[in-house]
Amino acid sequence: MNLSTYKQEEFIDFSQEENVKKLQEAFRKVEAQFGQYAPMIIDGKRVDREDTFVSINPNQPSQVIGQYPVGTPEDVDRAVEAAEKAFDSWRRVPPVDRAALCVHLANLFRKYRYELIALMVLEVGKSWEEADAEVAEGIDHFEYIAREMLRYAKGRKLHPFPGEMNEYRYYPLGVGAVISPWNYPIGISIGMISAAIVAGNTVVFKPSSDCPAISQFLMKIFEEGGLPPGVVNLVYGSGSIVGEYLARHPRIKFVGFTGSKDVGQKIALYAATLSEGQYWFKRTILELGGKNAIIVDSSADLEEAVNGIMAASFGYQGQKCSACSRAVVLEDVYDQFVSMISEKTNKMEVGPVKEHYFCGAVINKAGFDKILGYIEIGKQEGKLVAGGETLDREGYFIKPTIFVDVDEKARIAQEEIFGPVLSVIKAKDFDDALRIANNTIYGLTGGVYSKNPYHLSKAKDEFYVGNLYLNRKNTGAWIGSHPFGGYNMSGTNSKLGGPDYLLNYLQSKTIAQKVSL
Ligand code: NAP
Ligand code: MG
Repeated sequence: MNLSTYKQEEFIDFSQEENVKKLQEAFRKVEAQFGQYAPMIIDGKRVDREDTFVSINPNQPSQVIGQYPVGTPEDVDRAVEAAEKAFDSWRRVPPVDRAALCVHLANLFRKYRYELIALMVLEVGKSWEEADAEVAEGIDHFEYIAREMLRYAKGRKLHPFPGEMNEYRYYPLGVGAVISPWNYPIGISIGMISAAIVAGNTVVFKPSSDCPAISQFLMKIFEEGGLPPGVVNLVYGSGSIVGEYLARHPRIKFVGFTGSKDVGQKIALYAATLSEGQYWFKRTILELGGKNAIIVDSSADLEEAVNGIMAASFGYQGQKCSACSRAVVLEDVYDQFVSMISEKTNKMEVGPVKEHYFCGAVINKAGFDKILGYIEIGKQEGKLVAGGETLDREGYFIKPTIFVDVDEKARIAQEEIFGPVLSVIKAKDFDDALRIANNTIYGLTGGVYSKNPYHLSKAKDEFYVGNLYLNRKNTGAWIGSHPFGGYNMSGTNSKLGGPDYLLNYLQSKTIAQKVSL
């Protein structure tokens, strides 16, 4: 095992027939187990409840992925207790051994790569390529954070003080909650879990109710990899009951949360409110939504801009926090841009992702209805030039949709829709475009297509986002290269996949020791 180097995982090439065969085989394997019941896992033991919920395939809602118990506050209590017990020994495992275990877990992700891809295609409706990129991201998280742990384990050098030996060391926080969204059921969950556990913390994991099967698979990998019982405990159940109870729990030290702004705001409040018996301030790591803009100026390569914006707006049906949902285009290239992007988008095919479509269904009925509601609003607020329709077949399919001539203050230009809907806004000049781009409550990703060095350097300083992308799409963050986290209501800027991320899960101790000479 080589812990000295970090290398990002390569993607699978699905133009190779043998890789397609492997994926088809994985589809057969995971589908053969569909419909079964799987439990919660607390302290390494199965925990069942009579009350159950199902997970379905959004591209074919009649296909039931599996059944799962609806957890209760008592289950959260048991999970916190198990995590507390495990913390007592896990925190004493040397950082190098925790790091080595993370690398071992990365290898197990490689072993199950095709099955994980198949499950993601079927449970949350990712395209093959998006699903593969996400498994690769899970692997990268483990590999990267393992090396980060070794770096932090060395502590930091302090300014020498006469007659003393001074040290600055990092220690884990304790038991934490990880509450994650469905749109990156591996990438985001593993991002938070890997950092929490490599640092020596233990976790109560409450995944989104839309991806229980994938979360179950993660637990299987942890167990097979030898992660001791109680280090990660899986609790299912509704966010508003189990999630809230967990975030308010007096015995947890931190909440790692990724999800919507509305729930993130609530978590900030829960965590800030002291519960009886709680004698510490909870840390929160909150990574939330966005209303991301890409600016296209007159010097841009329009072909590249159109392709990048389409990929960023319609990849995974626009269900990425980083997705582009506003194109802000300078007036002298506006008409040409609109005609190019609408023509191309109208040709995009939508269909079941299992059959290797790039654009599939959105996550569930609630998401489908919400997006269609915004499309109706969009018809009042702008001019529809692409999509706006559903498919006449089973599944939550919505065609990639574009509204043009949208006012910068329109609801479709301000609110996160989380679906394949792009608003195009006209700007007078580059300063106007930058002002429009910055004019939302969010600040997650942003992009600029331009050859003008003044514009690019101005964007670097004044585009108020955590992740800025120049002359490329604004989605697809590589672990180690594009640390991820936003400004404003997009979150606490925790920078997942970057050199400061592990600090969120550590506390430091200063030790001053007098030495007699
Ligand atoms: P969500 O509705 O906010 O749910 C996220 C998680 O919170 C789920 O596990 C959910 O459980 C739980 N939850 C819901 N209500 C809760 C409450 N009152 N207390 C505690 N937990 C609660 O978000 P989502 O629909 O899963 O994911 C999409 C959102 O995530 C988008 O807004 C997207 O932009 C954002 N996101 C941000 C990033 C980023 O890095 N900035 C990355 C990915 C996604 P249930 O599923 O059981 O309700
Ligand atoms: Mg589902």
